[in-house]
Amino acid sequence: MESLAAHEAEQKYFDYAAALPEKTDVVAKFKENTVKGSQFKKPLLEFSGACAGCGETPYAKLITQLFGDRMYIANATGCSSIWGNSSPSPPYTVNEKGQGPAWSNSLFEDAAEFGYGMLLAQNAIRGGLKEKIEDIVANGQNADVKAAAQEWLDTYNTDSERAAKALAELEKAFDMPYMGTDRCDDATRKYLRDNIDKAKLGDPSGFTECIQANYAD
Ligand code: SF4
Repeated sequence: MESLAAHEAEQKYFDYAAALPEKTDVVAKFKENTVKGSQFKKPLLEFSGACAGCGETPYAKLITQLFGDRMYIANATGCSSIWGNSSPSPPYTVNEKGQGPAWSNSLFEDAAEFGYGMLLAQNAIRGGLKEKIEDIVANGQNADVKAAAQEWLDTYNTDSERAAKALAELEKAFDMPYMGTDRCDDATRKYLRDNIDKAKLGDPSGFTECIQANYAD
């Protein structure tokens, strides 16, 4: 084994390769939800400490290529919790937007309940944002903003591209009389600001989320 210092000069090659952009035209051509297309996407799992030839890590890598930018992991205890968070060098990483899997582990064989709690918490956070947006649709005064709010409500759970455009339009909400300082307190304005910013960052709340389930009677 050689010392780290002996290879420091090669760091620039890694930095160059890591900075290469994703080939979006190739991903678009092969569709990210196909086996082949998914493999052109950047994995958000790299350099794990699993045994060489481990059959578990390829599946974990694949799922990060499909959902990693908005993924929560409630890791059961076992091999994957060891190679999955071998501090200080966990193998999970982020994309160019800084979005990647959020990881946690509960020791006591309760990963299902633990993960369900994470899902409920995220549903509650997203539900709070959804209520504010619904309020704008119901009580807003700017037709463009109301249309953008409705567009976001219609797409945030199903079409990330359209939802992102709608969020950009929602910036106009802060110019509405409805959100003015005479009709809306600072805390509410800050709440909306924070939630729009969070939504822009992808608000990774789980790929199995169903807002209808969360709001069912
Ligand atoms: S599952 Fe665990 S023991 Fe088996 S190869 Fe992977 S890391 Fe090694």
